[in-house]
Amino acid sequence: MFDFSPTEEQQAVQKTVRKFVDREIMPHIEKWDAEQHFETEMIDQMADLGLMGVCIPEEYGGQGMDYNTLAIVCAELERGDTAFRTAVSVHTALNSMTLLQWGDQHQKEKYLTPQAQGTRVGAYGLTEPNAGSDVAALQTRAVKDGDDYILNGSKTWISLCDVADHFLIFAKTDPDAGHRGLSCFIVERTWEGVSTRGFKHKLGIRAGNTGEVFLENVRVPKENLVGEEGEGFKIAMSALDNGRFSVAAGAVGLIDACIEASVKYAHERETFGKPIGRHQLVQQMIAKMIAGYESSQLLVYRVGWMKNQGMRNTRETSLAKWYACDAAFQAAVDAVQIHGANGYSHEFPVERYMRNAKAPVIYEGTREIHQVMQGEYALGYRKDKDLRKTLPRWPFKKEEIFS
Ligand SMILES: Cc1cc2nc3c(=O)[nH]c(=O)nc-3n(C[C@H](O)[C@H](O)[C@H](O)COP(=O)(O)OP(=O)(O)OC[C@H]3O[C@@H](n4cnc5c(N)ncnc54)[C@H](O)[C@@H]3O)c2cc1C
Repeated sequence: MFDFSPTEEQQAVQKTVRKFVDREIMPHIEKWDAEQHFETEMIDQMADLGLMGVCIPEEYGGQGMDYNTLAIVCAELERGDTAFRTAVSVHTALNSMTLLQWGDQHQKEKYLTPQAQGTRVGAYGLTEPNAGSDVAALQTRAVKDGDDYILNGSKTWISLCDVADHFLIFAKTDPDAGHRGLSCFIVERTWEGVSTRGFKHKLGIRAGNTGEVFLENVRVPKENLVGEEGEGFKIAMSALDNGRFSVAAGAVGLIDACIEASVKYAHERETFGKPIGRHQLVQQMIAKMIAGYESSQLLVYRVGWMKNQGMRNTRETSLAKWYACDAAFQAAVDAVQIHGANGYSHEFPVERYMRNAKAPVIYEGTREIHQVMQGEYALGYRKDKDLRKTLPRWPFKKEEIFS
């Protein structure tokens, strides 16, 4: 029933992205990371390679490939650096795939198409200073004014905040209705009242761009309401089904990078008259990385397969994201350990892997939130209801993507 062996097309994409990462990211990443610089030129280059809309139908400017091809792209990018995988997670999985699932024809033509082509960049604005895991606590307000909405509030920890052209912003249209009072809007950076401020001195993903988005009396036309008023929570959560999938896929790439660095070092470094790879406790750390890599990859591919079939995958995605991100963080900690004191220095990439691997354990649902979800599913306290709009199955069918 399952055949997760990559197709010829997927192998070609993997090869292309690996070459791109080795040539365009690896030689510069240490500098970008040290200077806390997000290299926007990489977005253009990824766009040229079709990586910004790899699983978006060709009718909307994408490459029309399947959802596991997105996973492959994310894994290969994160092998280079988490910053660029995060960019694709936010732009493609959290924003573009949400427009593909929930957007109307006008929104798909106006926003999704240039995003999939990579000529415009999308971001996802859910988190606020007082609302992270507890999404329903968000305070950004959207008040109806004639045919428009007026948005006021602020978002924090928003990836690509200074880079994105379009944001999906979640705001309260009915403050008394809890999570049913949320709505989702497309907001353009150039509109009056929108401003952003990137953070410096993050623990990791220093070559990425993350920060705040401020909304001050921003007038949003009603045609930029995504879905229906009050559907924002469902939209935010279904976006996370795609974002988390891409994060889990990226974690596979980070483990790959840890294995690559650790195996190389274990062959080169000698103690007690032999390469450290000959010490069984070093072998154990590498063995655990292999187990983490293989099992995470299978969990990710199963989710990609489910998406291709059009099956609801919130439970499986949550498990893949929790498991793979934990495995990646552990792999990075062990990679530093294998490198001894050298692992504690920027002379080797593993300290960057360790700093980078922490954020994915926090964002798109913390480890604890995923553990709670898995416990609740197992105990029967959580059940997924059908959604009004679903992500189109792959291969894409015209009647499903033009709805
Ligand atoms: C680098 C980076 C990039 C990000 N990019 C984006 C982005 O693009 N868009 C966006 O909207 N957000 C983004 N985020 C924000 C991220 O999604 C939130 O940080 C995350 O959801 C957690 O929210 P919080 O930080 O407010 O933590 P809190 O929700 O305050 O949680 C604090 C601690 O309490 C625990 N906790 C909370 N509730 C429970 C519970 N019910 N049971 C058990 N434990 C619980 C958590 O697990 C955590 O350990 C990003 C964050 C980072 C670090």
